[in-house]
Amino acid sequence: MELSRLAKGLGGSVIREMFNEALKMEDTISFTVGEPDFTTPRPIIEEACRCWEAGMTHYTPNSGVGELRRAIAEYHQEDLKPDPDSEVMISCGATEAVQMALFTLVDPGDEVILITPAWPNYFGQIAMCGAVIREVPAREENGFIPDPKELRAAITHKTKAVILNSPSNPTGAVIDRDTCQAIAELLAEKGIYVIADEIYSRLVYGEEAYTSITSFPGMMEQTVYISGFSKMFAMTGWRLGYAIAGAEIIKNMTKLHENGASCLPEPSQLAAAYGLRRCLPEIGNMRESYKRRRDLICSLIDETPGLSIKKPEGAFYAFVNAKELCERKGLDSRGLCMDLLRKTGVVTVPGSGFGSCGEGFIRMSYATSDEAIVRGFERIRAYVEGK
Ligand code: PMP
Repeated sequence: MELSRLAKGLGGSVIREMFNEALKMEDTISFTVGEPDFTTPRPIIEEACRCWEAGMTHYTPNSGVGELRRAIAEYHQEDLKPDPDSEVMISCGATEAVQMALFTLVDPGDEVILITPAWPNYFGQIAMCGAVIREVPAREENGFIPDPKELRAAITHKTKAVILNSPSNPTGAVIDRDTCQAIAELLAEKGIYVIADEIYSRLVYGEEAYTSITSFPGMMEQTVYISGFSKMFAMTGWRLGYAIAGAEIIKNMTKLHENGASCLPEPSQLAAAYGLRRCLPEIGNMRESYKRRRDLICSLIDETPGLSIKKPEGAFYAFVNAKELCERKGLDSRGLCMDLLRKTGVVTVPGSGFGSCGEGFIRMSYATSDEAIVRGFERIRAYVEGK
């Protein structure tokens, strides 16, 4: 008997592929998975333990426990000002929120615009809706910021939504205020939904204040805002994300979520609420560490022949231009990452896994220790110099 075309047609993420390849080896130094190396702040863990001990082991409301929805609404009281009862939904990571948003907004055959290089899961998620991906390249020469003119040119009568991820995984680019405004005006004019994945919005290192697409007049009505606790509080394994949108969208996303993940554990939700209310200073400390590591990795890249970098302004990824090195070694970016792994044990991700315009680049996550970054570059240096 045949399995479904959907299941058979879906590819796995290149990030996981590299991760799995590395598991076969010893003494590797990994720059692959986009997850903080920090453990979740201690008070959040203690709050979850207290809840488990108190017997909170039951099903919870589909849209999430009220305490967490209220904590999220308070956290967003200066910007999005959502109604915690009707405009917030808790999801199984931001991953599920993006999927539910797409299922809610998009029909099979509709087009979804993706600014690429982009997080690989978006490709699979759009495919799961039976929708068609239209890639708009964010070019290195423009600091990986999308050009609103190219966005306009990609819009057709079938375009239903745009996924906007700032700060970006994999490039670390943060969309500046003017570009954000131009994109907002364009999408308002065309009546196109935005899925604004702002999961890295607390991890911004530049001088300029962060601009969210939701801050422009009327935009919130056509936006599903997505964020989560994975990156903000180093809670990747807890699987907690959230969506904020108009009540009708949230109602429909919740129906879909009910039929998929159903609901999330009460202890993790209450612990996340506790984190939002009491642990925000810890985020500042983590951000300072990432900023220091970003500066470290960028200077090491600059010192390495054949590699260069457009300094990322946010998230914790370096999208390294390795075109010269690829050419020298006669390899594409996938071949380069594999060769680097097999010869040095350094694990990176080929840029081609983030969209066709990522070819010639490699992504390195610097959410790892300073020491690992330095040791990794000693090996990369030796590889580049042919030692
Ligand atoms: N969006 C982006 C851009 C990401 O990089 C990631 C995680 N790598 C996610 C969403 C998903 O995060 P979560 O752990 O909350 O599912």
